[in-house]
Amino acid sequence: MTTEAPEQNTSNLEAHLIAQIKKNGPIPFATYMDAVADAYYARGTVFGKSGDFITAPEISQVFGELIGLWCVTAWQALGQPRNFNLVECGPGRGTLMADALRTVWDIAPIFARSASLHLVERSDTLRDEQRKTLAPYDIDWHDDLSTIPDGPVILVANEFLDALPVSQFVKTSSGWCERMVTHDSEGFHFTTAPLPRPEIGDAFDDAPAESILEQSSAVQDVTSRIATLCVDNPGAALLIDYGHVFSDVGDTVQAIKNHAYHPVLESPGEADITAHVDFAAIAQSARAQGASIHGPVEQGPWLKRLGAEIREVQLSEGKTDAEIQAIQSSIRRLLDPQEMGSLFKVMALGPRGIATFSGFEAIPSP
Ligand code: SAH
Repeated sequence: MTTEAPEQNTSNLEAHLIAQIKKNGPIPFATYMDAVADAYYARGTVFGKSGDFITAPEISQVFGELIGLWCVTAWQALGQPRNFNLVECGPGRGTLMADALRTVWDIAPIFARSASLHLVERSDTLRDEQRKTLAPYDIDWHDDLSTIPDGPVILVANEFLDALPVSQFVKTSSGWCERMVTHDSEGFHFTTAPLPRPEIGDAFDDAPAESILEQSSAVQDVTSRIATLCVDNPGAALLIDYGHVFSDVGDTVQAIKNHAYHPVLESPGEADITAHVDFAAIAQSARAQGASIHGPVEQGPWLKRLGAEIREVQLSEGKTDAEIQAIQSSIRRLLDPQEMGSLFKVMALGPRGIATFSGFEAIPSP
């Protein structure tokens, strides 16, 4: 891959954003984030040591393996449909799906052969990477969930929802006003829309001045669509992301470049911008569609319940000390509450009447 395309891409983006602001005035932060994410993921070279950030499937194969097995148990809970859609939203390099399919291929051959594979990905560059990683498989790509064919569905999304745009609102003396992005000779900066939005933030009217409240209509739309698929088709969905269990005020938007924090409004399109996922809001929109909700639970305990430590022992058999060390430290990174084990949460959605899914047993939803 050359470096020319991304540079052209990001400077085009900057020019486009500046022109939009000059013409129409400040733009909502969500509009900025959406444009930036689009340009950013079009670059492709974003994951891993040489990229900007690393995700769970890129840290350890155990992540995708256990999710593959979770999908088999969810399929069993749905009555083992002979034809179903196995969907991943935002598959990145395709690593999770490759590890999952490799694991289930021999263990659960009927599951594997009953699955039609669908990836929801809007970056052409990442689609090319996914095509290479998943070369042995027959795959359909989609821009969004609206084109997933009818039929039972098992859906997985890891670190997908955090990449979707959020709106921010600032508590002012006249109410919650939308946080906007503007541009002048010193670059991009935040400003606040002059008029309050009366429909926003009822639950947080006591928040101190200048508090920030986040809401994501993109996350709400996607999760209510996923919930509908789970109820109607029927289906099961596994949503894994970093975020909070209860809605609250706070600015959770962050940009990461070369594995370090980066100013959110600097060099748009060159850093990954994400926001914490509000699992309470997801549960609310999924419940409104009639879906059953499981979790959220912390990623570490959930992976342990699925057998991460047993898999660690298996993988370590016959390995050198250095290899065992590497296996252990990568799995610890996924499980440890100081690392990804606690901040990342796992939630499953299913049809009405499903009592539980693997890893969520006896854990009440909020
Ligand atoms: N799940 C992967 C990648 C996470 S990064 C992993 O865990 O490694 C976010 C992924 O979502 C990327 O593949 C990105 O291109 C995709 N994505 C982000 N916004 C999207 C959107 N609006 N529609 C479809 N895909 C999107």
